[in-house]
Amino acid sequence: MGTVKLQGIVIGERIQGESNKQIVVLAKGVGRVLLSARGARKAKSKLLAAAQLFCYADFVAYEGRGFYSVTQAELLNSFYALRTDMEKLAEAVYLAELTDRTCPEGTEQDEILALLYYALTVMEKGILPPQMVSRIFELKLLQISGFFAPPVCAVCGSEDGRLFFDWQEGAFLCERHHTPGSILLHGAVRRAAAFVLGHEVRQVFGFNLAPDALQQLENLLGGYMEIHMGLKLKSRHFFR
Ligand SMILES: [Zn+2]
Repeated sequence: MGTVKLQGIVIGERIQGESNKQIVVLAKGVGRVLLSARGARKAKSKLLAAAQLFCYADFVAYEGRGFYSVTQAELLNSFYALRTDMEKLAEAVYLAELTDRTCPEGTEQDEILALLYYALTVMEKGILPPQMVSRIFELKLLQISGFFAPPVCAVCGSEDGRLFFDWQEGAFLCERHHTPGSILLHGAVRRAAAFVLGHEVRQVFGFNLAPDALQQLENLLGGYMEIHMGLKLKSRHFFR
C-alpha cells in the first residue's frame, strides 16, 4: 500500500467507461502490471500523453489492495513515428500483444523490456524492415523464455553438415537424427538463430535476411509458438 514509481512501456490498453482506461505496463524491476488510469481519456488529463500504447514513461501510482491507480505520468518516449506508418504500426501492435501474452504478472522481465524497447526503436527508425524486427524479437523472446535451444542437433549435439527442424519436437536435428516430418533449415536461418542466441538484447537487431530465409523463419517461429505455447495471434498477420 502507498505510492510506487514505475518505469515501463505500455503494452496494452482497455477502455473503461467514458473517460477511464486500464493500461498494461511492462515495468522495470516489476514485470507486467495492470494500472488503472482514471480520467486518462479526457482531453485535459495529464495522463493522456503517457497512457497510450507503446509509450515509455515514468508512472507514479497509488497501490491499493491488488490494484495500481496512476496519479502522475511523465512521457519519456512515445515512439510516435510507429503510428504514421501502417506496416510499422501493425507489427508494433503485434509485439505489444505478444509481450502481454507471454509475460506472466508479477515477475521481473527486464531483459524482455529492453528487447521490446530496442525492437520499437529499430522499427521506428526504419533500420530494419518491420517484419524482420518482429522475427528477431520472437527468436530472442523465445530464447529468453527458455524455449529455444542453440541450433545444433538436439540428439547428438552435432554442428556439422545440414541441420533440420522438427516442429512437433521443437528441436533442431542433424542429418543422421532428423525425423521424416522435419524441414531442412536454410543456412541463413541457422546463422540467424545462432546470432540471436549469442548476442545480448541490445545487439540482436544487427542483421537482415533475404525474403526466402525470412519466410522460413516466420513459418518456423509461427509453428513453434502455436504448437508449444498455444499462441496464434491474429495480429501477427494483420498487415498481410
Ligand atoms: Zn544428431
